[in-house]
Amino acid sequence: MSHILSSRSLSFAQTLVRMNTVSAHSNLELIDFVRDHLAGLGVRSRITRSADRRKANLFATLGAGKPAGVIVSGHTDTVPWDGQEWSVDPLSASVQAWPEAVGQDGEIERVEPRLYGRGSADMKSFIAIAVANAELFLESASPFAVHFAFSYDEEVGCFGVRELIADMKDANVKPVACIIGEPTLMVPAIAHKGVYRYRCCVRGKEAHSSLTPQSVNAIEMAARVIGKVRDMAEGFEQNEARYEGFDVPFSTASVGQFQGGIADNVVPRDAEFRYEFRNLPTADAVAMQKEVLAYASRVEPAMKRVAPEAGFKFETICEIPSFLGSATDPVTRLAQRLSGESGVTQVAFGTEAGLFKNAGIPTVVCGPGSIQQAHQPDEYVTLEQLARCELFLQGLASAPQIG
Ligand SMILES: [Zn+2]
Repeated sequence: MSHILSSRSLSFAQTLVRMNTVSAHSNLELIDFVRDHLAGLGVRSRITRSADRRKANLFATLGAGKPAGVIVSGHTDTVPWDGQEWSVDPLSASVQAWPEAVGQDGEIERVEPRLYGRGSADMKSFIAIAVANAELFLESASPFAVHFAFSYDEEVGCFGVRELIADMKDANVKPVACIIGEPTLMVPAIAHKGVYRYRCCVRGKEAHSSLTPQSVNAIEMAARVIGKVRDMAEGFEQNEARYEGFDVPFSTASVGQFQGGIADNVVPRDAEFRYEFRNLPTADAVAMQKEVLAYASRVEPAMKRVAPEAGFKFETICEIPSFLGSATDPVTRLAQRLSGESGVTQVAFGTEAGLFKNAGIPTVVCGPGSIQQAHQPDEYVTLEQLARCELFLQGLASAPQIG
């Protein structure tokens, strides 16, 4: 691949990486930058805002008047870097020309030039290169439009994109396909598991620990439900039909956090735990959660007999649907053609792909950089990957696409 990354694309990537768009912050600086740039080219953006108006999605059609075409999609937020040891400033967007790395044989070797910074791989560079090449989409001879869809709050549960998709429907825009530029090393990815995460608050009744019959032990009741989650996890491992290509070829369940109790001699009134399901695309996570709720409702009557206020309260933290595309789908074929890759892959991380797919839009995940560097200290993407991404997007601009 002899394509050299344009200085304009690199500079746009650096500009976006330098903006702090950690999910807990506002992303408006980035959204305003993209909106203003597109406005300068005569493109109007549809902005949908979060309830507190500190964050926004941007949706823009390049090639207004043409039939709807392919969506180029990415999330604008990043994970934080608190507590991580970085050797560069996470917002520096520094380019290291030929960094040295220790190879597998212990030899020092020179590696591909890299762009460093939070979001460089996951996934501001993809957005930046698309925006830097906006003119090409506008000048394209393709009979179809291209759409930019940039969301907020992906990293905390794919919240923003739901508004964006709803707004697209309101506007009666019906794109034919979607390419999400999450880091896959430019190999088209056609499947990932879902991530369904819940919090369970357990209310018991406290008492001196010598008087247990007058109490409801919140920790022990929590433990029963946790045991149910564990039993389900073992059931998946033993019984679920395997789906090869994932690191773990069956659905998983796990409890990630637990709090409860105040003293050794007090029966605890409160306990709380969080758990998650990562379901195969062929398994139903909603049914999994229903099974937990049904189990809890069988435990609850005995608690309420001692204390009517006792019981379980469940809250949803996030529900990111699994994604299952197809190797033969036209958008997958298009991504293969544009990336020069003949194969497809499956990824271990959640994306917005399932939400686009569930909205009836065939989707593929394909973007620069590796998930190995995402969320890590010293996150980086190689300029070689960015060059491949630029070639991919420039190819999309000149492709007849899919109608
Ligand atoms: Zn991402």
